[in-house]
Amino acid sequence: MNYTKAPGIEDIFPDRIELWNHIIDTARTVFKEYNIKEIILPIMEFTEVFARGIGDETDIVSKEMFTFEDRGGRNLTLRPEGTASLVRAYCENGDYNRLASSKFFYCGPMFRAEKPQKGRLRQFNQFGVEFFGEDSAYNDFEIIAVMDTITKRLGITNYTLLINSIGKESERNIYVNELKKYYSDKIDKLCENCKRRLDKNALRILDCKEPGCNVIKKDAPVIKDFLDDESLKHHNELKGLLDNAGIKYVENPLLVRGLDYYCKTTFEFVTDSLGGQNTFAAGGRYNKLVEMFSGKPKPAVGFAAGIERIFLMLESSFKAETSLDIFIIHTGDKAKPKASLTAYELRNAGISVDFDPVGGSFKSQMKRVNREKCRFVIIISDDELEGNYATVRDAQTREEVKIGFDTLIASIKNML
Ligand code: ATP
Ligand code: MG
Repeated sequence: MNYTKAPGIEDIFPDRIELWNHIIDTARTVFKEYNIKEIILPIMEFTEVFARGIGDETDIVSKEMFTFEDRGGRNLTLRPEGTASLVRAYCENGDYNRLASSKFFYCGPMFRAEKPQKGRLRQFNQFGVEFFGEDSAYNDFEIIAVMDTITKRLGITNYTLLINSIGKESERNIYVNELKKYYSDKIDKLCENCKRRLDKNALRILDCKEPGCNVIKKDAPVIKDFLDDESLKHHNELKGLLDNAGIKYVENPLLVRGLDYYCKTTFEFVTDSLGGQNTFAAGGRYNKLVEMFSGKPKPAVGFAAGIERIFLMLESSFKAETSLDIFIIHTGDKAKPKASLTAYELRNAGISVDFDPVGGSFKSQMKRVNREKCRFVIIISDDELEGNYATVRDAQTREEVKIGFDTLIASIKNML
């Protein structure tokens, strides 16, 4: 019998929730500033949605999906990412895809059967944004600005925004041939995965993380030399917009994304503070995906960010705020019902309160107060009951005041 969690899956206990929510709340605030609307997508889809949407030859589809048959013999998969689901939903919903331009965000768990490591889980969480509408560099700029703003607002300074353009399919086909030529006499030095990729999808060799493949990559031909005027103009326009806004970036001519659907702009937010898993957000333009699902062309651009990786970057510097306003300590049997009622009334007045119904010694209740880190302690014992007042102690300074029960709520509200 095994009652532990499965590999690569984490419980997120309350001590992590404050930072967790802070990350998501910060993202939500920025999404609002950019008029990006939330969409809640299903956790599972027909396998076909991901197989077609992401591409059979990608790592995700070829080896990372949690796929199973439901009781009706249908083939389902736990979502490994959000874009394919969102495009499926967008195409299926007539009302939304009739709008000229639509901006969506999602947030939630994703599932990939990877080798678990720090910052690499089997169930992990992403927030992501997708814009459907035009093939405009302004949209690419906005998408990048959203993630850059979230990053800065979270106080992350140790990061680099990498950008590239991988052009259109026609340009890429010529480039991929050049790439195949370049790698053909180096095949022995490539990892097993890349040996396979060379034939099926050579572009993805550039996305390999193996040190050996990385070395050979350095002298590979770059896509930039194969872009036509239109793709170059798009890329230069994006760079101009980033420059105007003072958003710093580094051009990486070998940056391709591991998914099939990208074209033109690709970008990654990387840091060296995460050890091996150094990308915390990534995205790009994908003009053909909507057409693949619905037959109607609609250019799109988006990104996804890994919440666990952002969490790891912030956890050492984050100071959790005191979340509990009041802890009530009571001594003696008569004090207990008064403590319970006082807690009830304070809570109804919007104040956060806890008390220990078991009670116990003053000392043991104080220990709990210290663990909870509350702002004030209310002490109710026989003395207080007799005098019809509560003793209110500042948990930090330990200064105490006596406050009559009839004015307690109003006084506490003033003090908080
Ligand atoms: P990697 O190269 O690290 O495997 P990826 O290219 O597979 O990343 P994407 O599919 O672009 O990643 O996902 C976007 C972001 O989601 C990543 O930049 C990362 O922050 C996060 N992410 C992806 N896979 C995992 C995982 N297994 N565990 C935790 N976070 C992940
Ligand atoms: Mg991956």
